[in-house]
Amino acid sequence: MLNKDKKTGKISFLIKNTSAAFANALRRAIISEVPTMAIEDVEFKKNNSVLYDEIVAHRLGLMPLKTDLKTYDLIENCKCNGAGCAKCSLKLSLKSTARSDQIVKASDMKSKDPKVVPVFDETPIVKLLKGQAIEFEATAVLGRGKDHMKWSPGLAYYKYMPVIEVTKTPKDPEALAKSCPVNVFDVKKDKISVNDDNLYKCHLCGACTDLEPGVIKLNESESNVIFYVEPFGQLSAKQMLSEAANIISAKMDALAEALEKKK
Ligand SMILES: [Zn+2]
Repeated sequence: MLNKDKKTGKISFLIKNTSAAFANALRRAIISEVPTMAIEDVEFKKNNSVLYDEIVAHRLGLMPLKTDLKTYDLIENCKCNGAGCAKCSLKLSLKSTARSDQIVKASDMKSKDPKVVPVFDETPIVKLLKGQAIEFEATAVLGRGKDHMKWSPGLAYYKYMPVIEVTKTPKDPEALAKSCPVNVFDVKKDKISVNDDNLYKCHLCGACTDLEPGVIKLNESESNVIFYVEPFGQLSAKQMLSEAANIISAKMDALAEALEKKK
């Protein structure tokens, strides 16, 4: 693990002795295969706000919901055959009449399952003027990012680990170290060296090679990859990774089984 941001849940880590193909398989599994919960249907009982039903429904669909993968199944794998039951879908409801101008927020929705609630309580749904009312029942289901982005659990991306070599002593080590926007270099007694703790921050901008050509050699490692995961909030970065690993492994097992049958 290189870095973990406690507030946002973003993580980055180093994968050694790998290839871009593997990192990309992991990336694609995370963004398009790992399921999360999102609102798919909304039944309006009342809505005389300024926003049409369709716009409110669209906003609700894009609202990240905390996801409990242990309790829920994808609707296509559920025993109810797509009819919708407590194992594959969840109802969230909202009923609000404005006594004065107010903003209806995500936290005003009532979920039948306390484990599946909006990630951000303060997300505005609609603004109601005095006397306006909104009432609906929404159905959330598990889905995958490949069907709609609203089900994607977050962002995943990677880059090659930078390899920085100091080939000779620069004329002005201080100036060279300062040219780096992410402080990759340390200077001690006029000697410049690479700070290993900051090395992963290098985005190969090349500023250090411009100042005194020939001093610094910049390269990318062919086999070490820095991987980044940024959750939207439905799942933690760790859950996104472990679920993606399970999905890749299940796909490989299915391939092996199919090959076995072909013999
Ligand atoms: Zn079901």
